[in-house]
Amino acid sequence: MTLFYSSVDTGVGKSSIVWRFVEDNFDPNINPTIGASFMTKTVQYQNELHKFLIWDTAGQERFRALAPMYYRGSAAAIIVYDITKEDSFQTLKNWVKELRQHGPPNIVVAIAGNKCDLSDAREVSEKDAKDYADSIHAIFVETSAKNAININEVFIEISQRIPVLDAGGGAAGNGFKLRRRPSETRTRTCC
Ligand code: GDP
Repeated sequence: MTLFYSSVDTGVGKSSIVWRFVEDNFDPNINPTIGASFMTKTVQYQNELHKFLIWDTAGQERFRALAPMYYRGSAAAIIVYDITKEDSFQTLKNWVKELRQHGPPNIVVAIAGNKCDLSDAREVSEKDAKDYADSIHAIFVETSAKNAININEVFIEISQRIPVLDAGGGAAGNGFKLRRRPSETRTRTCC
């Protein structure tokens, strides 16, 4: 499945979540995303092979006009905020509006409240975020890329919501799940 992945605010841990998912690693000095980066990972879930094609797009305003190029062909989107920054939760709502207005009609949306390891500095309550996610029928999880909390879970939950399709088809023209032997693919390219 092609997965669009973004947040308006930089520094919420978006790239760290993908890095944790793909490499099972955390790099506190991860380079900021310029434009967009692309990574893939294939995981086995029960008897299905789920291939994630992940576009990690830069949050900066100057790249915002490019976002439709990535989300138009995507079956799912993860939008990330930082639980210690109320502003990042408010700006997340703008992304949700944009996706609902201009994204594929059946796009699966997941909201990730990252840095849940910093709960002492929390500014966004879990309940408020969950209520908001429920109101827009989105998946909701609190994650920590640092401590590997709920990272695989959010990707698995997304793939469970995407229907099983023949290779080449897709919920948004690009999603697919195949039944065959498991293997892992990991690539990271920048463009
Ligand atoms: P992005 O700009 O949203 O892609 O954010 P990055 O992945 O570049 O991370 C921004 C900063 O937050 C970096 O210093 C990361 O080390 C830090 N960070 C990312 N995820 C977490 C997390 O789960 N917990 C904590 N404590 N720090 C995190």
